[in-house]
Amino acid sequence: MRPNRPIYLDNHATTPVDPRVLAAMRPWWEENFANPHSVEHVLGRAAEAAVEQAREAVAELIGAEAREIILTSGATESNNLAIKGAARFAAQQGEPRRRVVTLATEHKCVLESVGDLAAEGFEPVVLPVRADGLVDLDRLRAAVDDRTLLVTIMAVNNEIGVIQPLAEIGEIAKAAGALFHTDAAQGSGRIPLDVAALRADLLSISGHKIYGPKGIGALYVRRRPRVRLAPLFSGGGQERGLRSGTLPAPLIVGLGEAARLAAIEGALDAGRIAGQRDRFLAALRAEIPEVRLNGDPERRVAGNLNLTFPGAVDAQAIMAAAPEICVSTGSACSSAEVEPSYVLQALGISEREARATLRIGIGRFTSPADVDQAAASLAAAWRHAIGSGARP
Ligand SMILES: *Cc1c(COP(=O)(O)O)cnc(C)c1O
Repeated sequence: MRPNRPIYLDNHATTPVDPRVLAAMRPWWEENFANPHSVEHVLGRAAEAAVEQAREAVAELIGAEAREIILTSGATESNNLAIKGAARFAAQQGEPRRRVVTLATEHKCVLESVGDLAAEGFEPVVLPVRADGLVDLDRLRAAVDDRTLLVTIMAVNNEIGVIQPLAEIGEIAKAAGALFHTDAAQGSGRIPLDVAALRADLLSISGHKIYGPKGIGALYVRRRPRVRLAPLFSGGGQERGLRSGTLPAPLIVGLGEAARLAAIEGALDAGRIAGQRDRFLAALRAEIPEVRLNGDPERRVAGNLNLTFPGAVDAQAIMAAAPEICVSTGSACSSAEVEPSYVLQALGISEREARATLRIGIGRFTSPADVDQAAASLAAAWRHAIGSGARP
């Protein structure tokens, strides 16, 4: 039997490149490959102009100015630069504040960056979350004081899709005189974000989560009042000295086009995606009524469903029985060991339930036929997995 066409429902891991983004990038691979720093000649200046136009589009998506946007290789680098860069610069200035506050459900690159700072004399504080996945604002208030240098809390969680109350978090950070960074890799383009309203000092973006290319991202760095960072790389001093290295003009043009489209179409996308999500969940629940949604049911992005399946079933067995459906187990695979998701465990979900959980990520290009097929296939796969080899 011919295998069915793969159906992609893993838009939190990465999104496809929008065809319009690909079209915008193409000339910068083929016709003008010049180094955008080669401003002595006409091709270099054209590449530089394209980079600056893209920077403007990224800035507009989050209500920033173009000169507040530092281009990086992605959100991992942006998060490292924001967290380590802010801490190290402050320490170099003799700043006595040492505490860096974050959440247990942050992306690994944030948790590891914060954790790494312990070896440099900083005080990492990793707060638990509520059972709905949201920050406990009272606990945050208690943890953020005049010893706090930085608060770093994500906009949208990459596993459970919950939207953190960023404006309230920003208010708490600012009241204590701390910096506020948010990892908006999953938030930008999916929910409206305005750095002034959020009072964010630092905000990370990833190209490949907003239908742009992989290997490009941005860090917003506030100018008024000015936020200073120590760079991670030594080199030619590009990006106002914060990120040395030749700017990849084609990727930047792609990021800019993705940001431009997100600003125009983000709200339309969200409405359509919510419709596909509801259609998928209704179809799945018609087959498996006991399927449980993890994370706050209201404060979440449209495309995310994090679902625990009933019975002693392994999500990997469900995926194996529906190989054409591209979803994820919400487990981080390190070497051969499959660890149950630390995000789900932070919500108080048991290890057994975490292992029975799938993350569904619906995106801009998901069709009604895709979600119908996926719901039917996953329901059948669940029945198969329950019937065969599932142990109590
Ligand atoms: C994908 C992701 C990252 C990492 O982004 P890259 O651009 O792949 O480095 C960081 N944080 C969150 C929340 C993400 O979803």
